Amino acid sequence: MDTRKSVINELLRLIVCGLLYCGALITGDALADINVLTGATLFDGSGALPLANAVVVVRDDRIADIGPVDRVPIPSEAVVTDLRGKWILPGLVDAHVHFFQSGGLYTRPDVIDLRHVRPYDIEIATIRRLLPATLTRYTTSGVTSVVDLAGPAWTYGLRRLADGAATLPRVALAGPGLAPALRPGLDGEHAPAVVVRTPEQARRAVRSLAADRPDLLKIWFALSPGMDPQREFRWVHAAIDEAHELGLRVAVHATQLKLAREMVRAGADILVHSIDDELIEPELLSLMRARGVLYIPTLGVGQRYAEVLGQQLALSPFEQAMADGDVIASLDDLRWLTRGRAIKRSLPDNRIANENLLRVHRAGIQIAAGSDAGNIGSLHGPGLHRELELMVGAGLTPTQVLQSATRSGAAVMGRGNEVGRLQPGMLADLLVLDSNPLADIRNTEDIVLVMKGGQVLHCDARTLPAGCPD
Ligand SMILES: [Zn+2]
Repeated sequence: MDTRKSVINELLRLIVCGLLYCGALITGDALADINVLTGATLFDGSGALPLANAVVVVRDDRIADIGPVDRVPIPSEAVVTDLRGKWILPGLVDAHVHFFQSGGLYTRPDVIDLRHVRPYDIEIATIRRLLPATLTRYTTSGVTSVVDLAGPAWTYGLRRLADGAATLPRVALAGPGLAPALRPGLDGEHAPAVVVRTPEQARRAVRSLAADRPDLLKIWFALSPGMDPQREFRWVHAAIDEAHELGLRVAVHATQLKLAREMVRAGADILVHSIDDELIEPELLSLMRARGVLYIPTLGVGQRYAEVLGQQLALSPFEQAMADGDVIASLDDLRWLTRGRAIKRSLPDNRIANENLLRVHRAGIQIAAGSDAGNIGSLHGPGLHRELELMVGAGLTPTQVLQSATRSGAAVMGRGNEVGRLQPGMLADLLVLDSNPLADIRNTEDIVLVMKGGQVLHCDARTLPAGCPD
């Protein structure tokens, strides 16, 4: 780094972090050639036990070396940051989000139609205008990678946007999915899926979508009343077959056991929601395990719809601090829209979904954490932390849940060889916490520092006596 830039960066850091407070984004060229983090306990995402007093050597954008203090030499020219008492883990991956939805009240007219209050075109225009800020909410929440699991064709632009900006998370995406029907309100210009009904249509649609190079293909298998599942299965088989021939993995929305079973038989690579109507039988678990199917439970999204519509929403302090204030405020609008009369919506019973999560885990199937953020009440940025808490509530350990939010999330992205683990050669996407996330998963909110590709994006100097690294 040239000296002038270094001095300017240092001055900026002093002004922002020293004189005021440091919750600020540190951007630009603040990239040391070699950054060494010492003294923290390391959770590396590989499945290894936590390592106390670890040394992490970051050279440019990658992990150059990592391990115990008595084995990893510290290069003499390195910038060393003392992180005693802290925890280091891989940057989190939210494996299921939708950037065409704001998380606010007006974002799903097919669920609650308030287009007479706020036209959907205005909702979409606002979402698009705020995309850089929305993406930044992820990195400041410790989420350095996200997977957009279906949206209108304009969501392809997200990957370009994110690739070009060091401060934004890495983005993998599906683009428009395939669906047997679209509910009124989501069927217009900004539809997140293409409607297909025959094998020929499905193959044609897959070839057309593949031309835009999505990271995976999404099938939204939500049937309209009166549809015959057997008839629709025919095009699903054709779509998955065509996608696999083109080297595309397929992520499927199918929440009923009998539908999900057929999707797995047809070759689905990822189930993007819990199966929540019946317990999964051993035979299907064995098939999922044998096929390497990834399972994303999204325990929180249904609850949040019910909480918002039933006017019994209780956001965590972290959600209130990190999510968009206007989006949060909109969730309260139902009070005046209904003049205080709550829409009846009982909270979903997650008992079957929770038991299925444990069965999937015990069967050795890889589980990835995803918030389904963008849906009403599921908030971009902090939403993943709430999902992690629900997964622990379902019976997984914090260690297992952190694996799902790091290594397994990277597998959903198709980038397991680059992100999700802290090992030599991997991208230096990492998170420093002030407290132990294995003792309490809520400590993933206790963020001290966020690094992506070796660059410090966020650093709270109040908890680092020796200051933030450049
Ligand atoms: Zn979704």
